Amino acid sequence: MRLAEHPVARAGLPFLVAAAAIAVGYALSVGLAGYFVYLGVSAVVAAIALLGLGVVTGTAGMISLCQLTFAAVGAFVVSACNVAGVPGGFVTWLLLGGLAAAIAGVLVGLPALRLRGITLAVVTLGLAAAADLTLVQIQFPGATEGLSVERPEAFSDDRSYFLFAVLVLVACGLLVHFLRRGRWGSSWHLVAFSERGTAAVGAGVRTSKLTAFAVSAALGGISGGLLTGQVGLAFPASFTAIQSLALYVLAIMSGAHLIDMAVFGALLWVAVPELLKRWGVPQDWGFVVFGVLGVQALTGRGNLGTAVRNLWYRRGTTAGVGLTAEVADVEPLPPGDPVLEVRGLSVSFGHVAALSDVDIAVPERGILGVIGPNGAGKSTLVDAISGFLPRAAGTVTLDGRPLTGSPTRRARAGLRRTFQQDRVPPGLTVGAYVRFVARRRLTAREAADALEFFGCPPPRTPLSRVDAGARRLVEVVGHLLAKPRVLLLDEPAAGLPHEEHVAFGRRLRQVPARFGVSVLLIEHDLDLVRSVCDTLTVLDFGQVLASGPQADVLADPAVLKAYMGETELL
Ligand code: ADP
Ligand code: MG
Repeated sequence: MRLAEHPVARAGLPFLVAAAAIAVGYALSVGLAGYFVYLGVSAVVAAIALLGLGVVTGTAGMISLCQLTFAAVGAFVVSACNVAGVPGGFVTWLLLGGLAAAIAGVLVGLPALRLRGITLAVVTLGLAAAADLTLVQIQFPGATEGLSVERPEAFSDDRSYFLFAVLVLVACGLLVHFLRRGRWGSSWHLVAFSERGTAAVGAGVRTSKLTAFAVSAALGGISGGLLTGQVGLAFPASFTAIQSLALYVLAIMSGAHLIDMAVFGALLWVAVPELLKRWGVPQDWGFVVFGVLGVQALTGRGNLGTAVRNLWYRRGTTAGVGLTAEVADVEPLPPGDPVLEVRGLSVSFGHVAALSDVDIAVPERGILGVIGPNGAGKSTLVDAISGFLPRAAGTVTLDGRPLTGSPTRRARAGLRRTFQQDRVPPGLTVGAYVRFVARRRLTAREAADALEFFGCPPPRTPLSRVDAGARRLVEVVGHLLAKPRVLLLDEPAAGLPHEEHVAFGRRLRQVPARFGVSVLLIEHDLDLVRSVCDTLTVLDFGQVLASGPQADVLADPAVLKAYMGETELL
């Protein structure tokens, strides 16, 4: 085991990096020429604002074009505290500024629950412009009297204030690091990749978005407060909408969801205008440079952060499924009474009746197979049961109790599902994803064992390096570890090579006994269905063609006639 892979070394690594950053900060604060110390503070201020953008945009995938408005909130609170002489001094004011900005962030995040993409961009940019105009009118507290903000006593000269700023940046970096590794962070990755996927694991889409906005805005507020300490008096010109826009572009361009890249972006933010100034070029050209690189990133050609990381990780290979290992057989349990019952389910899309009056039942400890040609309504069935089609008619009961409400609510009640399309966010590791989806405390052993059982890559593997087939099995494992009453699987083996299908089936067969979960399996590979399912339901044009014990259904003449050509079944 390499030292960097040792668990203790890994746990301490963030603190080691933090200590190194503080040491570098100290050396710079002593060694740099006075003018560069000042620029250094500006870079640190920008880095904190970019870290915030990295959370809301880079990780949670929402456009926010008003980061400097949050900075202005922080600056405003610090100025007001200074004027009022609020006890506690600068550090307290800074925290209050961050808190106030977080509240503003939640308020701005509320529309983000409904708006996406360009609409959210327009709303946040409009807000930034409005705040910009308002600030010019009302000015910051103390501005007219020229009341300069008092820095912390121990860090009052420029050199030591730079060190103070570095300490704040390190604290913010650690905060972001640990938040991103925790539940909130996982939910941000998930909500960025798929809102449906987030709801399906029983996580709140709203909470994910609002926490991302709050954390991001808090960081913005702290950067604004820090700026006020640097310059003494805050000016509206530091917080314009156009600068917020440029900062956003810079965040996208540098890949600011990575902490080091946020710092790198901040260096660019300060260095590019400075260099242009020295070369006698108007500084506004800096925005043009950022703009071009931003367009590059936004058109999907990747950002600098990812480019650097790809160079670094070039040696890495993509991990796939390894189901060839033999597994011990576990005696299947006899299926019991229905745990999930669906009655009279009907769904139509316009004139298309996707499901008409469908009844199904998943027996306790059993595996119900649902088969049928493409377009028969299988995925619609899963969507309706799991609450993604609120207008579906009919009843669903779980353990005899009606199952109603949002997908999140149904997931929490014990009904989980997987998707036919990929909903596994590439930004997480296998382990982080599985722990998040399970929504309960897992021992490292438990997660690793379940992953190994299904031939998935080990927990440490980044999902971006896991192939499509294996990603779907990681999704299955996560939901199984949640120990729901019933798990609905929508063609889970679709990405696997054919030899792996049967091996996957053998493991699936053991799921009720091993995990205590009953399963509804949608599958088109009849070999797999035969080896796994106790009971079968055949759908055709949204109607149940046959239903019952596997052997009876597969021998049913109506099934033979209607379903995928007789020869295949004989
Ligand atoms: P299966 O999963 O069995 O292949 P689906 O459930 O995906 O079938 O689709 C059943 C039918 O409903 C198809 O005719 C499909 O075109 C239609 N359908 C599914 N989803 C939608 C939708 N969101 N809007 C309109 N039609 C849909
Ligand atoms: Mg389907």
